[in-house]
Amino acid sequence: MSDFVLTGATVLAGQNLSPQENSWVKVNQQGRIADVGTGHWGGSNTTQLDASGTIICPAFLNGHTHVIDGFLKEVGFGMPYWDVFMPPEGLRHQALARTSNEVLKEQLGRTLDQMIACGTSLFVDFREGGRPGVSLLEEVAADKPIQPFTLGRFAAYPPQPAESLNANAGALSHEALHEISGIVEEGAGFSLIGANDLTDEGLAQVGHHVRALGALLALHVAESPPYRQLSIERTGQSDVHRIVDHLMPDFAVHLTFATPDEMTRLADASIPAVCCPRNHAVIGLGIPRFDLMLEAGMTVAIGTDNVILSSPDPLAEIQFASRVIRAIRKDPSFPSATDMLKMITINPARILHVEHERGSIDKGKRADLVIVDATTHNLAPLNDPVAALVNRATAADFKAVFNEGVQVCGQPLEVV
Ligand SMILES: [Zn+2]
Repeated sequence: MSDFVLTGATVLAGQNLSPQENSWVKVNQQGRIADVGTGHWGGSNTTQLDASGTIICPAFLNGHTHVIDGFLKEVGFGMPYWDVFMPPEGLRHQALARTSNEVLKEQLGRTLDQMIACGTSLFVDFREGGRPGVSLLEEVAADKPIQPFTLGRFAAYPPQPAESLNANAGALSHEALHEISGIVEEGAGFSLIGANDLTDEGLAQVGHHVRALGALLALHVAESPPYRQLSIERTGQSDVHRIVDHLMPDFAVHLTFATPDEMTRLADASIPAVCCPRNHAVIGLGIPRFDLMLEAGMTVAIGTDNVILSSPDPLAEIQFASRVIRAIRKDPSFPSATDMLKMITINPARILHVEHERGSIDKGKRADLVIVDATTHNLAPLNDPVAALVNRATAADFKAVFNEGVQVCGQPLEVV
């Protein structure tokens, strides 16, 4: 790969994603951003690619997915949450158990291609099926210009006996901890379905174990009222308080039913949130109040969750989320367009501890870029580039997507 420079674009540069008109981005042979500047590109001996009329945005990081269930699109649409998603009886889990790896892999490849076309450079997936489940996803993604952070989970559920869970007493077995080590070796970390998977002692063990391995740890939290109630019945505490007291994960997914006090507790403990508004809306659960989480001081990222009921399209997710929260608050001013865009770029990079190389257009970071054509019928005339992305743009407006300096979507850009 030789170095090149994209010229004449509106670049959403730096940590504030502030639009810089008539700007250029230079990409070096290693696929990194060598420099960003405004005005005429004055260098020589570098291929100049015409990016005039475009917005250059950092590629998107999808904070929460289950990419394996793309073969079940709209299955369960209109059905209650528990009948679709709760293991082991939920129809999603039943379908996974009786579907061959060949079928899963083929559909998974299509889902990843779609995510790339939607401008995604990295996604965080909760993968069931123990270590083999993780390796299946890693294998399919290995050939694709998109990076999975796969957080595997125990192969069998529940990981502790029902009597232990009901009494909130008892430790996790040595074999279970050994299974976690294997899962982490295969992927990027470990996930629980939720805090009710384990006793308080088990949560503390998993927290220590995963941290000692230097891997990511996350789980679903405050996802539904019955789940929350079960936690309180067994332990006297909600799952939010239990994860702060015992587990200390890198982030908590959903929090749709977290109270304001719990949001403050999570903010004080520096535990960020990943919210999935479209999936919780379509399944009739509710809307995660990520606006209140931001106001409480939490770092928030947005994910698209299960492909079964939501397309893995980060822009579609923030467009829905932005509108719904404005409607609920009866206030069009918060969160700002920049706040929304940060939730699929800068914030997830920080939550995943990869902000040194991802999430923004800054010198030295990976050239993971989305080149948006602002001259389409949909986007022209362009008055506010960030609001245009958050409020209107779709993947059909994308002219090109780059992953580590390699164009992975769209027609080749014209040489100037
Ligand atoms: Zn999930």
